[in-house]
Amino acid sequence: MAELATKTHLPALALEESLAGIALAGIANEEDDFGRVFDPEKRLKPPFAATRVTGTLFHTQGGLDVSADGQVKRKNGGLIPNLYAIGGAAVGVSGSGDAGYLSGNGLLSAVVLGRKAGQAG
Ligand SMILES: Cc1cc2nc3c(=O)[nH]c(=O)nc-3n(C[C@H](O)[C@H](O)[C@H](O)COP(=O)(O)OP(=O)(O)OC[C@H]3O[C@@H](n4cnc5c(N)ncnc54)[C@H](O)[C@@H]3O)c2cc1C
Repeated sequence: MAELATKTHLPALALEESLAGIALAGIANEEDDFGRVFDPEKRLKPPFAATRVTGTLFHTQGGLDVSADGQVKRKNGGLIPNLYAIGGAAVGVSGSGDAGYLSGNGLLSAVVLGRKAGQAG
């Protein structure tokens, strides 16, 4: 556990306490501090491994305004010849806010516009 704390740059005591809380919750079949109940058969056991989780850009609704083929539009009308933008580089298909996002819209824009742009270009 000490080695894991060193490698992940986590405070050793806090890491030990967190894992002990999870294991104890499993043994007693009670809720831990987060209201979770762990199956005693499936609780964490050594050897432990870790992965660092950090923030990332999920997707953006912003991007270049494009035609239905993915061709980039000029600000004042018309299309820019031979310039295509798809996926994360193109404007989102979910609207201008986060409320319109449907699961799959990110990949939809990448795959469908990519195909259309490939056929048109
Ligand atoms: C955690 C997470 C979960 C997601 N879940 C979903 C989901 O469930 N459903 C969904 O629809 N969408 C989801 N998305 C969004 C979706 O993944 C993106 O909208 C989509 O991958 C965008 O595709 P893209 O081809 O435009 O860009 P990317 O998939 O980002 O591809 C760009 C590629 O270009 C490479 N690259 C960058 N710069 C250079 C360079 N200079 N030279 C060479 N290569 C370069 C990158 O390494 C990368 O491989 C998720 C995104 C994240 C981060």
